[in-house]
Amino acid sequence: TKFEDLPISDEIKRSIAEIGFEEPSPIQAQSIPVILSGKDVIGQAQTGTGKTAAFSIPILEKVDPNNKHLQAIVLCPTRELAIQVSKEIRKLGKFKSGIKTLPVYGGQPIDRQIKALKSGVQVVIGTPGRVIDHINRKTLKLDDVKMVVLDEADEMLDMGFREDIELILNQTPIERQTTFFSATMPKEILELTKLYQHEPEIIKV
Ligand code: AMP
Repeated sequence: TKFEDLPISDEIKRSIAEIGFEEPSPIQAQSIPVILSGKDVIGQAQTGTGKTAAFSIPILEKVDPNNKHLQAIVLCPTRELAIQVSKEIRKLGKFKSGIKTLPVYGGQPIDRQIKALKSGVQVVIGTPGRVIDHINRKTLKLDDVKMVVLDEADEMLDMGFREDIELILNQTPIERQTTFFSATMPKEILELTKLYQHEPEIIKV
């Protein structure tokens, strides 16, 4: 598979070329078309396989730049990962104008995040605790969210974020698209799948 064979817009193809990705990695080739089709996905892939772009490209394709509400949320176990994912989304979205992305994580002054959120952010990449904090302060509203991605879902469960993740998922519309990426598939992930995904397609690399 080549990037040209995937149903990706010219704006995104241009940024892929500028970043220097020549061919989609296996997880990208397999999951991009399925996520774009709107189906729920469980991607079983380790770090280093290109999983970030596998969900970031479909997010960028699906976010409507004319809608200033939050439309996609990516949950990550650590602030480092949240920052890394948001950088990759910004790079991939460089030529698609009108999409604002914000990493939201603990340890950073909340006032700065609140100010940024008020300016209208369509994609949030956050750690569960800080996302909950913003939900409680009503500085983050999930009513318009179309896509939720759990990145490194197994890590988040190991870190004790299950309750937070469920609380966040329960604030999003039921008709959302839900994608899990996880290196391993412990029982807890399958439980979350049953509760929060609809006929997910499992993609393993
Ligand atoms: P990830 O698994 O998403 O953390 O990505 C691991 C590394 O692979 C990152 O440095 C990406 O920039 C890089 N990468 C992602 N997709 C591709 C691709 N299609 N071709 C070459 N490198 C890639």
